[in-house]
Amino acid sequence: MQQAIIGFDLDDENHWFAILACGHTQHVRHNPPWQNRSWVMTEQGRLEKLGILLECKKCEQRID
Ligand SMILES: [Zn+2]
Repeated sequence: MQQAIIGFDLDDENHWFAILACGHTQHVRHNPPWQNRSWVMTEQGRLEKLGILLECKKCEQRID
């Protein structure tokens, strides 16, 4: 299910995760070269991603 990003936060290991409109969270790691999301490292980059849709697997699996 597609859910909009409504915010970002850091986990205990300093990895960024997105907070989705459904209340679920999803990691958006910057871990090159495997996961290249340099945008997540800057506040400006994160702001630009607010409102975009991510596929929420937790919704599809109905995990609360
Ligand atoms: Zn969800």
